[in-house]
Amino acid sequence: MARQTLLIDADDTLWENNIFFEKSIDEFVSRLEPLGYTREYTRHILNETEKRNIRQHGYGVRSFRRSLEDTYMKLAGNAAKREMIQWIEQLVSELENTPPHIMDGVPETLAYLAGHHRLILLTKGEAAEQAAKVERSGLQTHFEAIEIVTEKEHTTYERVIHQFKVVKSNAWMVGNSPRSDINPALRCGMNAVFIPHVATWELEKCALESGSGKLIILSSFRDMRSHF
Ligand SMILES: [Mg+2]
Repeated sequence: MARQTLLIDADDTLWENNIFFEKSIDEFVSRLEPLGYTREYTRHILNETEKRNIRQHGYGVRSFRRSLEDTYMKLAGNAAKREMIQWIEQLVSELENTPPHIMDGVPETLAYLAGHHRLILLTKGEAAEQAAKVERSGLQTHFEAIEIVTEKEHTTYERVIHQFKVVKSNAWMVGNSPRSDINPALRCGMNAVFIPHVATWELEKCALESGSGKLIILSSFRDMRSHF
């Protein structure tokens, strides 16, 4: 196989991310139960609040903390307590300090891939937060470049393609999110490798679209080795 350019997502592709957020959300929802709303309703309000805050403040733990606080203030109304805001702060700081949990087979698979292809890490989120995660992961040496973007849209991919002089027919986006990784990459004329993760974030879920490029679906990152 000729040398390919592999754009690789990080959260929930190279390391676990969403399971830690889900755990925090579970604790948050339980903590709000005495207010008398169903768990589903509290979660629904949180999802709507997150969508709004992401549009305004982007992704990341700080935006997440704001969403938890806004949800609490909205649901508690006049009964809102200061201790609960402090508890949220504590919950988010624990989340922020959780060390990256690299997925099975990732380091050796990246080492193999880097020997044959050009690897670029493409992750979205708050720049400092994502950069810290990359550094703590110890995986950065496998990549020619680390690109941290605020959103992964069609235009983001066009910019990356231009910046790195990527030949689309020899380029693949590898990731777990149909909405941010697979669909926009295919729409740009690149190929894609979809590695679904059972705990993909609700706001990332959407149907797979088809494009002119090839689409490979794998059950684990380790399986990249058999295709590249
Ligand atoms: Mg991801």
